[in-house]
Amino acid sequence: MNIISATFLCSSQKASQCPAGDMREFAFIGRSNVGKSSLINMLTQRTGLAKVSGTPGKTRLINHFTINEQWALVDLPGYGYAKVSRRERSGFSSLITDYVLNREQLYYLFVLIDARHEPLRIDLEFIRFLGIHGVPFGIAFTKADKLSQAQLDRNIGNYRKQLSEEWEELPRMFVTSSEKGRGRDEILDFIENCLEQ
Ligand code: GDP
Repeated sequence: MNIISATFLCSSQKASQCPAGDMREFAFIGRSNVGKSSLINMLTQRTGLAKVSGTPGKTRLINHFTINEQWALVDLPGYGYAKVSRRERSGFSSLITDYVLNREQLYYLFVLIDARHEPLRIDLEFIRFLGIHGVPFGIAFTKADKLSQAQLDRNIGNYRKQLSEEWEELPRMFVTSSEKGRGRDEILDFIENCLEQ
């Protein structure tokens, strides 16, 4: 897919404020600092579309972008940042759960995971939550350029192992690097395929 246009549409404080209409939404979520803004900018080839944040955990809004006037890219707030209040840390914010569970336009969710880490509880919990509720999602491993291929294979293998203890079918997995442009074609082709269904 070529990105012909990518424009910021709006920010919403709750799912009920999100734009009306039936444009399919492809949303991105992950722990703060996982590299979500960088990935969104890499995918859209717009350097400043999503703000690459020096202050992790600050974005607490749902940001909508319209791509090619055809689909919506949705930037969800990060979860699991240690400096948010204790209440927000236990479980996922109602903003996230409300959007993920109730937003009819949500077509697919990309859960971003830093490829450098061992499986983290918060990510596994979020994946479990999605599985239980039948939300269509895939995993996008980020910052792949920071690892050797062998380390990458090992870390992704660890995730596969952990997830297959609980699920018969593993989610689709994408390996990305915003630095190197890795994973861009795979994700955009995947979205294009979805739009043709
Ligand atoms: P967000 O909080 O999830 O939106 O994360 P950002 O996109 O703001 O990125 C957090 C930090 O990770 C920044 O310092 C980025 O430069 C860095 N980063 C993000 N993606 C990559 C990547 O693919 N490779 C490398 N080496 N660094 C990255």
